[in-house]
Amino acid sequence: MTGKTHRVIGLLAGGGYFLALSNATYQPATLSAVIVVSYLGSLIPDADDAGADIWHSIPLGHTVGKITDPFLKHRNISHSLIGLIIYTIIVYMILNLMPSYWSISILPVTIATSIAYASHLLTDAFTVEGIPIFWPWHRMFGIPPKPFDGIRIETGGWFENIIIFSLVNIGVIFLVISYWQKIKFLILK
Ligand SMILES: [Zn+2]
Repeated sequence: MTGKTHRVIGLLAGGGYFLALSNATYQPATLSAVIVVSYLGSLIPDADDAGADIWHSIPLGHTVGKITDPFLKHRNISHSLIGLIIYTIIVYMILNLMPSYWSISILPVTIATSIAYASHLLTDAFTVEGIPIFWPWHRMFGIPPKPFDGIRIETGGWFENIIIFSLVNIGVIFLVISYWQKIKFLILK
């Protein structure tokens, strides 16, 4: 999938988890953090690709992306369960360094970014290439599995751009409308 689709799906997955399952006692900072980390978590797996959106969203990103590219093959450890676990641990450790007066609740933010990251892996599994989910085993897995892989989605193709992208955007609008009261309550503390 392309970065734009991953981003919206990440927001839908991470934000959806937080709005549906968390209680309303969290501070506004936690909601903001959930949005930021859902966005980042959905793009981080493609950080091994110099052309990826994540490198366009940070300063000097183009340069860093070009430096790292020759050493990492796209869809490697970052598209595996081990990658997901390492990423979750790193985020958890970084969040623990944040000053407590920021009032960010660490657990739901960690879970939200983990879910956004996992949403990236899951959606890439539906593409023609598949993902090396059990890395370091290099075998690529996808949904549906072979020999039914003919119906998998082409990254950047019409089905992703027109159908999936529209549906997930409608999903985000629907999410915001359905949880509007809770969002208002979380913001206006
Ligand atoms: Zn990817």
